[in-house]
Amino acid sequence: MSYLPADTRYDAMRYNRCGRSGLKLPAISLGLWYNFSGVDSLENARAMIRRAFDLGITHFDLANNYGPPPGSAEENFGRILSQDLAAYRDELVISSKAGYWMWPGPYGEWGSRKYLIASLDQSLKRMGLEYVDIFYSHRPDPETPLEETMGALDHMVRSGKALYAGISSYSLEQTRQAAQILRALGTPCLIHQPKYSMLHRWIEDGLLGVLAEEDIGCIAFSPLSQGLLTDKYLRGVPADSRIGKSGEQLDWGDSATQAIVAKVRQLNEIAQARGQTMAQMAIAWVLRHPGMTSALIGASRPAQIEEAVAAQQNLHFTDEELQAIEAILAGNNPQ
Ligand code: NDP
Repeated sequence: MSYLPADTRYDAMRYNRCGRSGLKLPAISLGLWYNFSGVDSLENARAMIRRAFDLGITHFDLANNYGPPPGSAEENFGRILSQDLAAYRDELVISSKAGYWMWPGPYGEWGSRKYLIASLDQSLKRMGLEYVDIFYSHRPDPETPLEETMGALDHMVRSGKALYAGISSYSLEQTRQAAQILRALGTPCLIHQPKYSMLHRWIEDGLLGVLAEEDIGCIAFSPLSQGLLTDKYLRGVPADSRIGKSGEQLDWGDSATQAIVAKVRQLNEIAQARGQTMAQMAIAWVLRHPGMTSALIGASRPAQIEEAVAAQQNLHFTDEELQAIEAILAGNNPQ
């Protein structure tokens, strides 16, 4: 069936300025790491993209290797774009990345100019695009000079294949250096994409401060810690969940697992008192930093996207709520 986006799509979403750039990103963005690949249902993927766009999610995040097989998430996204969203390209911010293993041999991963530029060309072909809005160095390369990796990003922007440059999972010091090199080249670093959630807080130890100083935006990946920060695992592992499908099982006898689930159970009570689900509170919590441009969620069904977007109905935390959350996360709140 042909698709007409909802007229109301810009009514409820907040759009936050990304650093000091001219670009705004939706407070909630959708990543295609899981559930959009060659082994997943294309119809479900399509339903999720449509629902997201109808709710004001303008930003879709990909990478060369998202699959399985690697590349298939970009291919499927390209299909959905051409079927449903071709007329709306200028309303979309599409990102891709390169850094992890993509093809055999010495030029298929890390941060060389050779790999990054070839990979972007492949990504554009897979998605049927002339340009991506943001291209990321997916991870720092300990062996390639940072000048070369940043020079490749600058080249992509100058050649029009990417509009903006970003970095992902760079440490505080690497971020400072990357920002300096890119600035000198005349292509400012738009954005950093780090992992950040109640369970992974490394960016609080200085990175957020560096991003503010350097006027770089921040988009937090895995704000739900891949589903752990929802209420779904409180009563066991559902077969259709990410953990259930992976064939792994949470080891309920393991004390670390028990500790996380016990914390989420307590956090869930705070969420309920705020009139939110656990997932919504986890997203709101990530967005509480003034410098946080967007929370980059994943989803396995359209209802999860609706739930995430509705987190915006309560983004405010009282000091008491924040303290109670800290106490639970620190394990100082025995039941
Ligand atoms: P999340 O932490 O948001 O986890 C998403 C998963 O949580 C969903 O697939 C779903 O899994 C579950 N979930 C979501 N909403 C709900 C809900 N309301 N109730 C219950 N369960 C829910 O993010 P991801 O780990 O998926 O990462 C998001 C994106 O971040 C990726 O797609 C990618 O774009 C980016 N990323 C970037 C990386 C990088 O190195 N730069 C690394 C990793 C991710 P299910 O229903 O299947 O259990």
